[in-house]
Amino acid sequence: MRTIVVATQNAGKIVEIKKILEDLDVEVKSMGEVGIHIDIQETGTTFCENAIIKAEALKQYTDALILADDSGLEIDYLEKAPGVYSARYLGEDTPYKIKNQMILDKLKDVPKEQRTARFVCTMAVTAKDMQPITTCGVIEGYIGEEARGTNGFGYDPIFFVEEYNTSTAEMCSDLKNKISHRGQALRQMKERLKEILNV
Ligand code: IMP
Repeated sequence: MRTIVVATQNAGKIVEIKKILEDLDVEVKSMGEVGIHIDIQETGTTFCENAIIKAEALKQYTDALILADDSGLEIDYLEKAPGVYSARYLGEDTPYKIKNQMILDKLKDVPKEQRTARFVCTMAVTAKDMQPITTCGVIEGYIGEEARGTNGFGYDPIFFVEEYNTSTAEMCSDLKNKISHRGQALRQMKERLKEILNV
């Protein structure tokens, strides 16, 4: 059975990835589980560059397949900020409750048609003897007038999806995984992995 090492310390991402890849004949492990403890600097200016940087950073430590992702929120009214800086935007240690309120304040009185936004996720897979391959998922939505919901994380309470008329923090995890940027990118990557693994 092939092992896929995921370039993250985030336990939630590992659970999500394991669930989507569960019917592939692969063992999904976090970098910590295989003894890789490095801090990877996200120096890219696009989601794609950062996903590849994270995946390539692990190449020297493992012979396994490596999976990495990079994701974030683009708000059109803020010229696509926070984008690749989503985790660092308004201060890495600032609680999201405060960050989200600051964004709502920046968009105060902005009409709905100018509040468009999207979550973007790029997945990258590589290995020692392989050029990286990438997939990308996007979910379109808009920034609401107020924060709603307690599920999810990060910017979920202020990101609303028109079709459901709810924020992604009001969705159950199954629905969010089904439609999310990360779920889409991962399901596309699963198809590419089937080709790589010949299954
Ligand atoms: P990453 O872990 O480097 O990909 O950073 C992603 C950052 O983008 C997170 O820290 C969040 O701020 C934001 N983000 C990405 N995906 C989501 C999501 O599904 N919900 C809420 N925030 C997200």
